[in-house]
Amino acid sequence: MKKALTDTFGRKIEYLRLSVTDRCDLRCNYCMPKGFRNFEPPDHWLSDDEIVRLLQAFAALGLKKIRLTGGEPLVRKDISKLASMISSINGIEDLSLSTNGTQLGKYADELSRAGVQRLNISLDTLDRRDYEYITGRDVLHKVLDGIEMVKHLGFEPIKINMVVMAGINDHQIDPMLSYCREHNFTLRLIETMPMGISGQEARYLNLQPIRRRLQDKYDLVDSVMSGGGPARYLSSHDGKFKVGFITPISQHFCTTCNRVRLAVDGTLHLCLGHEDRYEFRELLRSGINDSDLREAITIAIRRKPERHEFKESPTKIVRLMSMTGG
Ligand code: SAM
Repeated sequence: MKKALTDTFGRKIEYLRLSVTDRCDLRCNYCMPKGFRNFEPPDHWLSDDEIVRLLQAFAALGLKKIRLTGGEPLVRKDISKLASMISSINGIEDLSLSTNGTQLGKYADELSRAGVQRLNISLDTLDRRDYEYITGRDVLHKVLDGIEMVKHLGFEPIKINMVVMAGINDHQIDPMLSYCREHNFTLRLIETMPMGISGQEARYLNLQPIRRRLQDKYDLVDSVMSGGGPARYLSSHDGKFKVGFITPISQHFCTTCNRVRLAVDGTLHLCLGHEDRYEFRELLRSGINDSDLREAITIAIRRKPERHEFKESPTKIVRLMSMTGG
């Protein structure tokens, strides 16, 4: 039982990203292609009860951390109710959420009461026109208001995720760094991944030279951050400000990967960069008992591949990030 969530490469899988919807109110051009309509039909969506049952089985095997993601998790109806059900599962120690922030003002308070402890907010620029160009909507002000609100509610830490694209928003790195430093947020710079046509057409930028530039300019030192996931961090000397680098292409972190992703239709994706998967929807709907469900999970975990091949096979993954749960 103890080893049930250890994969064939000895990695202990303690973290699950749960995509509660594949829909989103933004159209970030590196994530979902314009005019995309190929969403999961509602009868394929796992219900709240189906999700909780599956997560209980994972937790019984040793899963500890869950992140709600999507698509945009705040567009799922009654998301706070689901969050509250998940945070009550025995064994789940950490519940966090990734959001684009457009509806944070509306939901932040109830999410906090539902047991969501930590927030990652996606924000690629502070420039209104650039924001509209990247996301397809002129709603930067809403996101900034939502961020202000969660700061006052006391969410800690608040991580701001910025996907960096050459010639699109790389000129915004320094303004974003100043903004995050001023508000005591952790900035994380992310390399684009070639997921689906939108990810493959994104203007990839290697973040290693950026890291060296920021380290010199702001006199930063190597650092770590608990719950920091795959990011490698630099911090100020007093440790108060941190900037993370998520570099799946220029310096991959597969050897320490401890995560899997559950899509809204019940598909468990074992790796962002492979098609290895396990389908749980029909199993859950077939009346499977708890012990067989746990057995299915251990079989699924053994399918986790060693590493992605984004560099070697950049056009391999046709699945979009929004379908998988980023
Ligand atoms: N809607 C939520 C949000 O904006 O955080 C959660 C889902 S979104 C798919 C999760 C993260 O994936 C976001 O930070 C987004 O910028 C990132 N993302 C989407 N497509 C990506 C790609 N092709 N490469 C790298 N990051 C990507």
